[in-house]
Amino acid sequence: MKKLVIASNNAGKLREFQQMLAPLGIEVVTQSQLGISEAEEPHITFVENALEKARHASRESGLPALADDSGICVDALKGMPGVISARFSGLPRSDERNNQALLEAMKAHDDRRAHYYCVLVLVNWAGDAQPLIAEGEWHGEIAREARGAGGFGYDPYFWLPELGKMSAELTHEEKHAISHRGKAMKVLLEKLKARGIE
Ligand code: IMP
Repeated sequence: MKKLVIASNNAGKLREFQQMLAPLGIEVVTQSQLGISEAEEPHITFVENALEKARHASRESGLPALADDSGICVDALKGMPGVISARFSGLPRSDERNNQALLEAMKAHDDRRAHYYCVLVLVNWAGDAQPLIAEGEWHGEIAREARGAGGFGYDPYFWLPELGKMSAELTHEEKHAISHRGKAMKVLLEKLKARGIE
């Protein structure tokens, strides 16, 4: 595989994909560079939304497309914000307001457990009947105060008890080695290899 379109306009995700895919010699273009609009995300599961995004980008570009649907799932909130993590506080999307909304929703809860979830979907063409699908989870807790300047989204509040750090305090390399997206990418690359596509 020589060229891939990334079906996302999220700057934080795009940065991470470029960092993860650069060593593989795959040329990565973003859907916005090709003038492709964002796909609808109408579904209640991550995998359905990721498929929707990958198909849309591949159909519009004529290229293989990689989509990520991800979010933060909080135990005490029965998995919310989940698939609506990006727009938890409404539109236009704002990480700052999302974090404030999450803190507000967590005010009454002592159980702070949460996990990030990521599903990656790679289609070779829009009608691909065998999309490659890979998942990853990353467990931690929702902190009460922010720390760190790295990452994006909910990272300043995602506490990793074993490391004694927020996810926003990790270097890129540290985050990719253990994050939901890093784990899903590792699985996806193994599946690509197994199919003989490298
Ligand atoms: P999506 O674009 O609909 O998949 O929304 C993903 C949203 O989940 C992002 O906008 C963030 O709010 C959140 N999210 C997913 N992955 C991460 C991460 O690695 N760090 C912080 N927030 C994340």
